[in-house]
Amino acid sequence: MITVQAHPAQPRWQQAWRDAVRDPRELLRLLELPGLAATVSDEAAAQFPLRVPRGFVARMRRGDPHDPLLRQVLPVLDEERIAPGYALDAVGDAAARGATGVIHKYAGRALLIATGSCAINCRYCFRRHFPYAEETAAAAHWGEALAWLRGHEEIEEVLLSGGDPLSLATPKLVEFTAALAGIAHVHTLRIHTRLPVVLPERIDAELLRWLRGLRQRVVVVIHANHAHEFDDSVDAALIALRDAGVTLLNQSVLLAGVNDEADALTALSRRMFAAGVLPYYLHQLDRVAGAAHFAVDDARAHELAATLRERLPGYLVPRLVREVAGEPSKTPL
Ligand SMILES: *Cc1c(COP(=O)(O)O)cnc(C)c1O
Ligand code: SF4
Repeated sequence: MITVQAHPAQPRWQQAWRDAVRDPRELLRLLELPGLAATVSDEAAAQFPLRVPRGFVARMRRGDPHDPLLRQVLPVLDEERIAPGYALDAVGDAAARGATGVIHKYAGRALLIATGSCAINCRYCFRRHFPYAEETAAAAHWGEALAWLRGHEEIEEVLLSGGDPLSLATPKLVEFTAALAGIAHVHTLRIHTRLPVVLPERIDAELLRWLRGLRQRVVVVIHANHAHEFDDSVDAALIALRDAGVTLLNQSVLLAGVNDEADALTALSRRMFAAGVLPYYLHQLDRVAGAAHFAVDDARAHELAATLRERLPGYLVPRLVREVAGEPSKTPL
């Protein structure tokens, strides 16, 4: 008996994506925290909506108003505060634009804004202001970005970033790398993605097949800020990526009230290593308007970094950096 499917089933990850929690009050109900409703900002939520996948919500602690995962996603009144020095384009991306969707700041590497979409909205993200609609590389079938890469033979590594590049459907990624395969000087593909952590369903058989078939070396830089962001589903996604030959690194942002304690950062490094991931960068916050309440001052950041060096093997200590517009690399603190 043959059954004919009129519409091919959507990948499961796209269903999980659509099923994300978007109403702050629903989130607080799920977490048994109705009292926190008074701290929610409707203005902040209107400007940059709450969005958080249910699997990530499941890793938050019920009844804990200080949960480090919750703090990363809940739109709060603190965001309405105007803080001097916190701007709309915090990292000078507008000035470093090479072609539509291409940002070229550092030698040998070019960053492609693959898409503006993301499965989660982190409150400290510069996406809350950057004009992505006109600026993505995939929108024009990658044409302009690929032409730019062909013309720049010094580029050895292409970074897919965003937004979250893995929010693109796999055929759209295949379309890009099929064309990239013809550009011999690009030997490394780096993917900056938070999806293995916030929506591990995304690491499905189709995606893994794509990764295994690539000609380039592949580096996946995940983004986790706290040990609680890992669970069995995340571990399974990361193991599958490693089995596909991917080098796994993590970048974190140093965030007040989330991971600005030596214990939290130590636990994070150990937890990611247990999942086969090495720490890469610990970023000082980009000074994005609305995110000032996440800032940790440099003296405290230095103190934390010193404690990590004392407690952990060198390979589990992330590099503490800041992004300074116009500098030729991330700037060590
Ligand atoms: C951060 C960044 C990179 C990558 O820098 P690495 O130090 O190699 O991780 C490349 N291009 C741009 C535009 C960046 O912002
Ligand atoms: S996952 Fe990254 S791109 Fe997406 S909202 Fe968070 S910080 Fe921004």
